[in-house]
Amino acid sequence: MSHTPNPPILLTPGPLTTSDRTRQAMLRDWGSWDGDFNQITTRVRQRLLAIANAAATHECVPMQGSGTFSVEAAVGTLVPRDGHVLVPSNGAYCQRLARICRVLGRKVTTIDYTEDQRVSPADIDRALAADPGITHVAMVHCETGAGVLNPLHEIAQVVEKHGRGLIVDAMSSFGALPIDAARTPFDAVIAASGKCLEGVPGMGFVIIRRSVLEKCEGNSPSLALDLYDQWVYMQKTTQWRFTPPTHVLAALDEAIEQYLEEGGLPARGARYARNCEALVSGLAAIGVRSFLSADIQAPIIVTFHAPDHPNYEFKRFYAEVKKRGYILYPGKLTQMETFRVGCMGHFGEAGIPGAVAAIAQTLEAMGIPVRGAVATAEA
Ligand SMILES: *Cc1c(COP(=O)(O)O)cnc(C)c1O
Repeated sequence: MSHTPNPPILLTPGPLTTSDRTRQAMLRDWGSWDGDFNQITTRVRQRLLAIANAAATHECVPMQGSGTFSVEAAVGTLVPRDGHVLVPSNGAYCQRLARICRVLGRKVTTIDYTEDQRVSPADIDRALAADPGITHVAMVHCETGAGVLNPLHEIAQVVEKHGRGLIVDAMSSFGALPIDAARTPFDAVIAASGKCLEGVPGMGFVIIRRSVLEKCEGNSPSLALDLYDQWVYMQKTTQWRFTPPTHVLAALDEAIEQYLEEGGLPARGARYARNCEALVSGLAAIGVRSFLSADIQAPIIVTFHAPDHPNYEFKRFYAEVKKRGYILYPGKLTQMETFRVGCMGHFGEAGIPGAVAAIAQTLEAMGIPVRGAVATAEA
């Protein structure tokens, strides 16, 4: 019985391609009261804390749902009802973060950038100095919209200097790009099962400073998304407050086991960086240009300019690439026609060259001129 190779390969930032072992971990059922299952919960929480070097200072509170549920839970639980959140915004996920604040009735101010710019720590410094009423900064580490890496460490220094709270959506960076609680002060870091840890989607988690979490009772405007309640219940019982995503957690536990075997964060980050380099240079060789400059590009997801040709149409492009075994992602830029390719997921070293060849063949099939010899290479 074999569950691999599991085609097509997902080159998307979650859901992504998972390993045979990770999928096999879902082939049994668990009771939510069962001691063996609750041991998995405890182990996963401890290992997630260790990845952020946060065990001494922080708690890991998991939450059912996709990543956005955990972002909403973090904002609702950490920001008091009369709080004021500053959101530096350079893309779609930053906009979602600001929208969550508004929907929850939290006062929000944004600093707006274009999608090819990094957030500037100096701007945040000025904004916090000018408005002592701002209680929190909420930022996105890797803005998955265009793929920009924002300077988390520098921003965290600024926020700490001003004595405000920092909430970080690290959904698409956690586990691959360094976040060290002992070096980089933060109140909350949010991530999910189905991103760089290469689990399946279905749960998120928030790493919260213990001294902050202890004071969060009653903040949340939501019953289900109250991280304080989830934490208190879990400390008391080792169980999740409501029905846990049992199979998702078992798969995440197995995915983390493989993550540690691979060499943890440095190895995961290096593998994604190699994928990113191979992708950018491979597509450049056939005349497809990446959107961001290399110095602000996170090795997680890359935005490419769509070919400037009348035959190009994303739907057809997507379908042709899929026929050749790869799933790409539409662009998320408001202004121009782009597509995105993820660097994350469990696929072998041949994955990226294979995708580059599939894209080259697709462009040829669409009658779009391709530069270079890669176009005729075997996939
Ligand atoms: C994936 C992602 C999320 C969560 O999206 P969901 O669709 O809810 O899983 C949030 N922020 C960022 C930066 C992401 O990459």
